[in-house]
Amino acid sequence: MNKPDENGNLVFCCDFCGSAWDEKRPMVEGHRGSLICGNCLSIAFTELVHLDTGITPARELACVLCLENGRDGLHWVSPMNDEVIACRRCIKQSAGVLHKDPDIEWKKPPDPRHDG
Ligand SMILES: [Zn+2]
Ligand SMILES: [Zn+2]
Repeated sequence: MNKPDENGNLVFCCDFCGSAWDEKRPMVEGHRGSLICGNCLSIAFTELVHLDTGITPARELACVLCLENGRDGLHWVSPMNDEVIACRRCIKQSAGVLHKDPDIEWKKPPDPRHDG
């Protein structure tokens, strides 16, 4: 999302944790300007992909990244706002994008169930 800073300039912020974009914080864009930062992506990837945990939304919430209804499957929920969710498919896809980008240092987090 975009939000104005104290000078009224729009800054790009992660929809999930609210952190502003900067050089050290890569972000992946979803639909309608939604953004997820590398930090959130690491947590979400570990939970959804490695640990197979997450929530199935009780209400009719849509993944903010693909805007598809989240009734099926596991989702990761923003620690700030429990109406902001991301589906596993988007997390995997976004992680793949960042992982492959040679200009970005972000890598998929290792599986915590295995050492190393
Ligand atoms: Zn974030
Ligand atoms: Zn999605």
